[in-house]
Amino acid sequence: PGTKLPAVGTTIFTVMSALATEHGAVNLGQGFPDFGCDPKLLDAVTAAMAAGHNQYPPMTGVPLLRERIAAKIEALYGRHYDAGSEITVTAGATQAIITAILALVRPGDEVIVLEPCYDSYVPNIELAGGVVVRVPLVPGSFRPDFGRIAAALSPRTRAVLINTPHNPSGTVWTAEEMRQLEELLAPTDVFVISDEVYEHMVYDGALHQSVARFPGLAARSLIVSSFGKTYHVTGWKVGYVAAPAVLTAEFRKVHQFNVFTVNTPMQHALAHYMADAAPYVDLPAFYQRKRDLFAEGLARTRLRLLPSEGSYFQCVDISAVSDLSEADFCQWLTREIGVAAIPLSAFYGDGFDQRVVRFCYAKRDETLRDALTRLAKL
Ligand code: PMP
Ligand code: GLN
Repeated sequence: PGTKLPAVGTTIFTVMSALATEHGAVNLGQGFPDFGCDPKLLDAVTAAMAAGHNQYPPMTGVPLLRERIAAKIEALYGRHYDAGSEITVTAGATQAIITAILALVRPGDEVIVLEPCYDSYVPNIELAGGVVVRVPLVPGSFRPDFGRIAAALSPRTRAVLINTPHNPSGTVWTAEEMRQLEELLAPTDVFVISDEVYEHMVYDGALHQSVARFPGLAARSLIVSSFGKTYHVTGWKVGYVAAPAVLTAEFRKVHQFNVFTVNTPMQHALAHYMADAAPYVDLPAFYQRKRDLFAEGLARTRLRLLPSEGSYFQCVDISAVSDLSEADFCQWLTREIGVAAIPLSAFYGDGFDQRVVRFCYAKRDETLRDALTRLAKL
C-alpha cells in the first residue's frame, strides 16, 4: 500500500534515547531536563484535581490560563492578544505546529523551512499536501540568509516557518534580522509560523525577538510556545498558539478535531502557578550557568564549540576528533564513550553532514560533570 511518509522512520530523539538507555550512557541527546519542576507546580496539579477540574475544559483552553498567557506576552513583548479570540491552549508545541500547518497549507502550497530545522516541520507540511521549500541557514553561523529566503519566495508561497532561539544551533535572531523578515514579507500575503518554544532561554543579556514585537510580522503570524521548556515539564505536553483573531479562527477549526481539548488539571495548575511565579525571569541565568559549566569542560577536548546564544543546546564540530559521519559518531559516542548526542544531519531533508553534533545541557550539574569526565578522552 502507498505510504504517506515514505522517507520517515522513527524520530532521532526516540532512537538516541533508546540507545542511551541500552548502553547506560549519559543522555545529552533528546532535549529534556533531568531535574524536577518547582514542587509548588506539582501541588497545584493535585489541588486542581481535588477541586474537581477533571472533565473537558473549554475547547480553546482554560480561560484563566489564556488570560495569564496574554498578560505575559503583553508584559514581555508589548502586544495585546485577546484571551478569548487570539490565544489557544495546545497539547504542546508539536500539536500546535501540525495544527497550524493543517489549518493554513492547502495542497500544492509552498512552505519555506530554514534548514537545519526541527524534525516535525517537513513531514507536517507533506501531510498537509504542501510543497516543502528548503532554504539553508548560513553554513557555519546558522544565521538567516535573506537573499536566499527572498529567492525562495514565489506566488505559491503560503507560509514561512521560523524558529528562534533555534533548535539545534542555539542561534538567536536579532531585532535587525526580524525587521529584515518583516520588510521582505511586507509586499506578500505569506503567513509566518513562529516556533518560539525557547523564548525564555536567551543568554548574555540579549533579548528574545518574538514576532509579537514587530507589527508587520505579528499580523501574519501564529506564535507557538510550550510550557514544557519553560517550567521543566516536557512530559506535560501543554503549549499554546497566539495569533490574530482571523488566524486563530482558522487554527481552531482544525484544533477542535485534532485534539479538541488539552488536559484540564495541568491547565489549571499552570494558570494558578503563573499568577505569582515567573520562572522565566531567572531562566536565562539558570541555563547560562549550565551552558558555561559544560562549555568550560568541552573546551578541554578537541571538540570545537559553536556559540550557544539561546535554547538549551550546545553544538560542537567533531572533525578534529573523528572521521565518522555525524550519525555514526553519535552511535559510537553513545556506545563507546557513554554520552548520547544528536547528529545535525537529522535536521536536514537531504541528511547534509557538516561534522557537527548537538548536546543538551538542560541537566543537573552532576550529570554534566559525569558527561564531561567521559568526554575528556576526546
Ligand atoms: N519545536 C522545537 C524547536 C522544539 O525543540 C520542540 C521540543 N523538542 C518542540 C517544537 C515541541 O515541543 P513540545 O514538547 O511542547 O511538543
Ligand atoms: N525537542 C526536543 C529535542 O529537540 C525533543 C522532542 C522530541 O523528542 N520529539 O531534542
